[in-house]
Amino acid sequence: MLLVEDEPTIAGRRRGRRVAGDGAAALAAVASDRPDLVVLDVMLPGISGLEVMRRLREDGTTNGVAILLLTARSEEADRVGGLQLGADDYVVKPFSPAELIARVDAVLRRTGRAAGPERALAFENLHIDIVGHRVTRDGEEISLTQREFDLLLFLARHPGQVFSRDQLMEAVWQYSFYTDTATVTVHVRRLRSKLERDPASPRWLQTVWGVGYRFQP
Ligand code: CA
Repeated sequence: MLLVEDEPTIAGRRRGRRVAGDGAAALAAVASDRPDLVVLDVMLPGISGLEVMRRLREDGTTNGVAILLLTARSEEADRVGGLQLGADDYVVKPFSPAELIARVDAVLRRTGRAAGPERALAFENLHIDIVGHRVTRDGEEISLTQREFDLLLFLARHPGQVFSRDQLMEAVWQYSFYTDTATVTVHVRRLRSKLERDPASPRWLQTVWGVGYRFQP
């Protein structure tokens, strides 16, 4: 998810997230990061939010991205115009974090981006049933919390790739507002204790010292 917002009160509380402060930065960030969703403020310095959206919709490589507009209460014309231009939804300022999260989730569900096309991943004796949210090792189910499952799935979808705690926080905790990287450390530890035969010498969830973690396929 990419947040495009020039107001520091909104942009600032989205710690650990990709934030672009103006339209040009937003277009560059979408091109390079390929987010699944852009939360786009209408009133931006330079290129307006609606113009950013028009360009994203016209560009064949980005016209599938989900777009959630942020508008002020007085900007009804922008909301209507935004929906006509292809916004998936809008949120009126001021909004609570919970409201934004709910709208983001709804847009991702509706646009079908909440679940990837693949149904399962298998690595030797480890099986991750993505659709059923089940993980088994040697056929025996391992009980994981939703967040542990999300973390495992994210790492397993990028086998061998190292991610920093900040990157994992961004990728796995993307819609919660108040997490820090210690949360990632705790979840990796818990995941190891459930997943690994020897958590002190992990087969799957490996630490890359000074960098972060990777899933060893
Ligand atoms: Ca603004």
